[in-house]
Amino acid sequence: MDCLFCKIVNGEIPSKKVLENDQLLVFHDIQPAAPVHVLIIPKKHIASMNDVQPEDLPLIADIHQAAQEAARELGIDKSGFRLINNCGRDGEQTVHHLHYHLLGGTRLGALVG
Ligand code: IMP
Repeated sequence: MDCLFCKIVNGEIPSKKVLENDQLLVFHDIQPAAPVHVLIIPKKHIASMNDVQPEDLPLIADIHQAAQEAARELGIDKSGFRLINNCGRDGEQTVHHLHYHLLGGTRLGALVG
């Protein structure tokens, strides 16, 4: 499948990893929009939030847990952070593999992400 994030998952495209387990990968965004900007993705290809099925819901819970862990790892858990999913055209989703932006390290403006 011609999916950028699937290629990151299988190592075809390198990434700067923060956390990884059997289900999820957390890696640094190539164009950070904040001092800390990482992406949390399921290894399973799910095109967008619109495509999440009931059987995928445990993965969504895992993504929240990974966000907590990554925030601790990156030293932004106490100062706070933002977790964002862009979905579809009006959400300005550019990579069609479900991902959540974890942003922090500064006071974030209203539309960062
Ligand atoms: P979206 O706009 O919500 O779809 O976010 C896609 C994100 O992927 C953007 O913030 C990009 O900077 C990021 N991105 C695109 N290509 C790469 C890459 O090869 N490595 C890491 N991040 C990437």
